[in-house]
Amino acid sequence: VKAELLIRPGFNDHDKIADVLMAGPRRVDEGGPPFERLVLDAQLAARRPQFAHAAEKAGVPVLVDPLTFLGQGRLQEDDAWLRMPFANLAQRMGSVDIDAFTDAVIQFQVEHRATMIVPPYFYAGDPQDELGSLNINLLRSTGRYLAAMDIDLPVVPVVCGRLQSFSTEMGAQGIDKYLSAMTNLNVEFIALCLSPMGSGDEGRAKLLSYFRTARRLSGHHDVVAWRQGVYGPALVAAGLRGYESGIGTREQCDIRRTITSRGKRDKEQAKKGGGPTVGVLLEAFNRSVTTKVADVIMEDDPLRARLMCMDETCCPDGHESTLLDRRGHALRTRSRQLRILRQQPIRWGLYNIERNAYDGATAAKEANKLLNQTDLKERIKAKGFESLVQAVRTLREEQSSRDVA
Ligand SMILES: [Zn+2]
Repeated sequence: VKAELLIRPGFNDHDKIADVLMAGPRRVDEGGPPFERLVLDAQLAARRPQFAHAAEKAGVPVLVDPLTFLGQGRLQEDDAWLRMPFANLAQRMGSVDIDAFTDAVIQFQVEHRATMIVPPYFYAGDPQDELGSLNINLLRSTGRYLAAMDIDLPVVPVVCGRLQSFSTEMGAQGIDKYLSAMTNLNVEFIALCLSPMGSGDEGRAKLLSYFRTARRLSGHHDVVAWRQGVYGPALVAAGLRGYESGIGTREQCDIRRTITSRGKRDKEQAKKGGGPTVGVLLEAFNRSVTTKVADVIMEDDPLRARLMCMDETCCPDGHESTLLDRRGHALRTRSRQLRILRQQPIRWGLYNIERNAYDGATAAKEANKLLNQTDLKERIKAKGFESLVQAVRTLREEQSSRDVA
């Protein structure tokens, strides 16, 4: 069973990525790079050619995500995405020639050394609504363009929409139309971008609806969970090919908020390069927390013992090492998790996830007791872990009845 970690780096992650991809002597137990593919936001591919360059030298495939759904929002004038040659077309989607738009989007990816093609896509409220139909036409348009240009690169269609409507029976019928529009494409895998997911407030039913939609798609193509740092490992344990996450940030999927928050991005952050702050990944939560929260947690001896990085080759001086190399720690931790899951049969992987989620819920409550004594606003949400325990238990029962049959 293969399991892939896809990394979506931020603006200031270039040195770390170049560093981990650099060819050179490695210890045998280090294996290859700690991730399988690099996913570059379009504007990042344009502003930081170092990423594609380093990936190319290391033989790591590169996807350039056109983020065309940003055309649905009102962005600030200085937003780097607006300088993409297809941004203006994306913003006027109702009134432009679809093929011209697709041409511009794919040409941009090829020029920026993408080794896989991501068809343009929008965030659809429902697979059968106007934007859902547009997404289907964009898949067809992509097929026409690749055939006409004789481009033989594998394609990664993004199924992007609102989880609540995509996971219903009607939604499933809508998704079937997406699938039939993919028949002429050389699909490498489907990137599943159902939103919102990953806040930590999810109930059991919501998690199961994501798992089931993903598994259903897996019957047709391999599926990679998009923007799923939090539940990605669980989804891989349930049979997905992989998941995508940022490094110490951008670990959850909320496309609506991604669109609206760019309009409000504060100037200071934009001046610093627009990159989000890199947090401290706590493996028990599959989520990164701010340095202040990590410090509160790590000051408590019993909690530190449960939440610190337990890989002495990753963080030899404990929490201090984690803080000094938070990017490296995040990459190595996520990679190691998948390596372990990859070696287990599905049912054991699910046991593993269930136990971790149970521990995560308990640890979250302990951590919140400490955080309650500070003036920090952040809390670790326990609900998502409790729901994950229940959801995985359901999947496990289904799996064992399938095994018996
Ligand atoms: Zn570590």
